[in-house]
Amino acid sequence: MKLRLICKSCQKESTLKEKELSRPYLADKIGEEFSHRCSTCGIEAKYHVNQVTAHNSTSIKLIGSFLGIAIMVGLTILFLITGYITNLGLIIGGAVLAGSQLSTGSSNAHAFNSYYL
Ligand SMILES: [Zn+2]
Repeated sequence: MKLRLICKSCQKESTLKEKELSRPYLADKIGEEFSHRCSTCGIEAKYHVNQVTAHNSTSIKLIGSFLGIAIMVGLTILFLITGYITNLGLIIGGAVLAGSQLSTGSSNAHAFNSYYL
């Protein structure tokens, strides 16, 4: 999960280095009002923690998807070679795939974004 805000100057998304799980925690750490220097245009401005939004890192989802598909295909081929007919590959691979899409990261981001100070 990454914390971002929209730069007041260039309107681009800028990532915070903090990784707090909720706005109150973030406010405790950096203050309800804080200064942030935009990584794109370098202009520093004051922001409120309510302007910060949490985003899931897509890389975890991508890795999970690849892993899920790899298990699905791998186990299916393995069972085909050995002559077993089973859906185990689909079930395990599907579970990994589903798990990665519904990972704790997404609920953390949702919890962060739905709680305002
Ligand atoms: Zn900027």
